Amino acid sequence: MGRMQHVLVVGAGFAGATYARTLADRGLQVTVVDKRDHLGGNAYDHVDGNGTRVHRYGPHLFHTNNEEVVDWVTQWGEWVGYDHRVRALLPSGKTAPLPINRRTLETVFDVTLPDAAAAEQFLARVAEPTERIANAADYLRSRIGSQLTNLFFRPYTKKMWDLDLEDLDPSVVKRLPLRFDDEDRYFPGDRFQIMPRYGYTSIFERIFDHPDIRVQLDQPFVRGMEGDYDFAFLSMPIDEYYDNRFGPLPYRSIRFDHRVKENQPDMSWAVTNYTDDGPWTRETCWGMIPFHGNGRASGTHTREQPCDYTENNLERYYPVRTSDGRFQKIYDEYLRLSSADPGVNFIGRCGTYQYLDMHQVINQSLQGAKKWLQHHL
Ligand SMILES: Cc1cc2nc3c(=O)[nH]c(=O)nc-3n(C[C@H](O)[C@H](O)[C@H](O)COP(=O)(O)OP(=O)(O)OC[C@H]3O[C@@H](n4cnc5c(N)ncnc54)[C@H](O)[C@@H]3O)c2cc1C
Repeated sequence: MGRMQHVLVVGAGFAGATYARTLADRGLQVTVVDKRDHLGGNAYDHVDGNGTRVHRYGPHLFHTNNEEVVDWVTQWGEWVGYDHRVRALLPSGKTAPLPINRRTLETVFDVTLPDAAAAEQFLARVAEPTERIANAADYLRSRIGSQLTNLFFRPYTKKMWDLDLEDLDPSVVKRLPLRFDDEDRYFPGDRFQIMPRYGYTSIFERIFDHPDIRVQLDQPFVRGMEGDYDFAFLSMPIDEYYDNRFGPLPYRSIRFDHRVKENQPDMSWAVTNYTDDGPWTRETCWGMIPFHGNGRASGTHTREQPCDYTENNLERYYPVRTSDGRFQKIYDEYLRLSSADPGVNFIGRCGTYQYLDMHQVINQSLQGAKKWLQHHL
């Protein structure tokens, strides 16, 4: 293969941006196309008519332990520390911390648990241990009992995945964090919890600001386009590229309802999870995230209603993982096909059919671009 000069990147989200910048910094000409009219992929944000910074595709909280990723992403703008907190709205109208901690148990069961040891003992009493764990319901009941399972997990799973807990693989809930102390930060295990002070979109503007990167928005990938380039990195859905040859790879999607709410009581957390059977899973109050609003609960809120991607303009958000792995098998067939294709690499969430957080996408893309450069330059 001759020396690579001009590469195509499909998608201006974190995968495409990380590849584009890494390759341009090594002297390649990069053309980026995205079918949307903005940069940033699903991490896109903007300031709405109410003066609030809103993430169009739901709240994007940056959290990681990966220092290399943090070093890379923080060079494109100012970031500020932020401890994310989530509370569940209970049928009583009270709210309680999520993940479950000592205070959650006190609030749900209306008991007093003076310390972590008391909370742990209490949970052991409500848990219903069983020998045979065949599904997520069995697992949850054995750890936290029926009441907490049915309150926090059953309606959520139905709304989010359109699945009953009995149909869900135990592995999906096995990493369920349980806290017996008062820790109520959502990501206490991550050393870095940061948000871009001027929004994600300004970070993307800086990443793409390079004389050898050309970005074309409102430009869907058209089959054959890659022929004009030495190589193509595609963060588009792999099944779409291959015309669904082995069948479609399904996704869950979300409809977002952004609205201004006035006269809201004060709150100290940004996201409220619903425990009821209604359509909404959660609601974000943007004002509670630093540099997004005015620090008040009144202002723009965004509610989320999950659905199948075919009901939402084929907006692909979460790959569907079933316990029998049938969609993963279809993906593997696409992957085999693409491995035999010397001119393209599939990258990012839809290219690899994996749910990935932003830091994971950046990490994979930094490593992937490095490896590609070793082989091709
Ligand atoms: C509701 C929600 C909440 C999330 N919250 C968090 C969070 O709190 N923290 C976190 O770390 N991560 C979060 N994520 C994950 C985060 O969105 C992803 O890690 C990230 O967006 C992946 O980047 P990407 O470049 O792979 O994909 P994307 O951001 O989806 O970018 C892909 C781009 O490719 C474009 N594209 C697709 N097909 C074509 C085509 N045919 N032609 C041209 N362009 C095309 C798309 O328009 C899109 O802009 C969340 C995701 C969702 C859906």
